[in-house]
Amino acid sequence: MNVFSHPEFDHHEHLSFVCDAETGLKGIIAIHNTSRGAALGGCRMFPYASDEEALRDVLRLSRGMTYKSALANLDLGGGKSVIIGDPRKHKTEALLEAMGRHLESLGGQYIAAEDSGTSVPDLKVMGRHTRHVAGVTTRTGFDGQPSTGDPSPVTAYGTFIGLKAAVKHKFGTDDLTGLKVAIQGIGNVGYRLARYLNEAGAELWVTDIHADNLSRAVDELGATPVASNEILSLPVDVVAPCAMGAVLNDQSIPAIRASIIAGAANNLLDRPEHDAALKHRGILYAPDFAINAGGIIDVFYERTGGSPQQIRAHVDTIGDTLTEIFQRSERTGLPTGEIANELAEERFRKHAAGAGLAPRRLACAG
Ligand code: NAD
Repeated sequence: MNVFSHPEFDHHEHLSFVCDAETGLKGIIAIHNTSRGAALGGCRMFPYASDEEALRDVLRLSRGMTYKSALANLDLGGGKSVIIGDPRKHKTEALLEAMGRHLESLGGQYIAAEDSGTSVPDLKVMGRHTRHVAGVTTRTGFDGQPSTGDPSPVTAYGTFIGLKAAVKHKFGTDDLTGLKVAIQGIGNVGYRLARYLNEAGAELWVTDIHADNLSRAVDELGATPVASNEILSLPVDVVAPCAMGAVLNDQSIPAIRASIIAGAANNLLDRPEHDAALKHRGILYAPDFAINAGGIIDVFYERTGGSPQQIRAHVDTIGDTLTEIFQRSERTGLPTGEIANELAEERFRKHAAGAGLAPRRLACAG
C-alpha cells in the first residue's frame, strides 16, 4: 500500500495508523493541513473492505475538511479519522476509549467529531480520555432550542439557506411556494431540511431505504414517497441528495431533469469531471462542501463559545458564499465545484497573509 505516493496524499501533514489488540481497534487519523488552526473533522466507523479503501477515504475526507473550513472562513484546519469495523457489530466502549487515548496522544492537533457510524454518546466515551472531541456539549443551539451537540440541525438549516440561494440565482426569487423538491435520504439532515421546505411552501418527494424515516416525512409533512431509483430523475425543480456520496455520476447525470442540485451529502460528484458535466447540462450545482458547512460552523463555535445569534449569522453566510460561486461560475464559464475550490484557496491564502504566515502548500482539491 502506497502512502506518500498515494494519489490522494496531497501533502498531508500527518498520518497515524492506530491499533489496539485488546479491543480490536484499527483506525487511521489523517491531518491534512493546520495552517488555519487545529484540524477538525469527523471520526467515521465503517466496515471498509480493505486497508486501502480506508486510507483512500480518510485522505479524501481530511483534505475536504481543509477546503470546507477555509471556504466557511473558519479558523480550523482539515483532518478526519476512520475506524475500520461495522458500527453495529464491532463498536464497544473499550474500543472507543482506545480511540480516545490515541486522539489524546496527538495533543489537540486533531479534534474528532461525529460522523457516519459514530454518535454524540460515542464521542463522549472517547472524551473520557481526551478533551479533543467536539460536538458533545449540551447548550442552547443556533435556533434557541436545546442542542445535544449533534450538528445535523445546523447542517439542515445551512443546506436550506444554500438551497434558497440557488433558487434565487436560477429563478430570480427566493419564494419557495410551490417549488418542487426531491430529497434522497430523509435521515437526520434530510428530514429537517424537508421540514424547513414544507414550512416555506415547497412540494416534496422523498425516498429512503428505511421505511420508518420515509413514513415520518409522508405522515408529518405530506411528502410523496418514491422508489430509490427514481428520485434523481424526477421532473422537479431541485434535487437534494442527503444520503450518500458519488450519486452524481455517468448514469445519473444524463437522466436528471431538475434545474438545481442542492443537498447535504458529502462527495456528491463521483469523479471531478462530473462538475463540468452538470454545468454542460445547464444544471446549477451547489458544491457539497459549501452548502453542508453548517455542522462544522456549529462545532467551531462550541469550542470558541459563540452565541446562538453568532452561529446563525455565520451559517447564513453560506448563502452569500454560494451566490458568489454561482456568479463567478457564470462569468468565467467554469463549473461551480471548481470555483468553490478556487474560492476556498483564496480564503486560505488571505487568512495566512492576514496572520503574517506562509501557508503550507494547498493544491486545488480535485
Ligand atoms: P443519516 O444517516 O441520519 O441519514 C441518511 C439517510 O439516508 C438515512 O435515513 C438512510 O436510511 C438514507 N439512505 C441511505 N442510503 C440510501 C439510499 N441508497 N437511498 C435512499 N436513502 C438512503 O445521515 P445525516 O446525518 O442525515 O447525513 C446525511 C448526509 O449529509 C451524509 O452524506 C453526511 O455525510 C452528510 N453530512 C451530514 C452532516 C451532519 O451534520 N449530519 C454534515 C455534513 C454532511
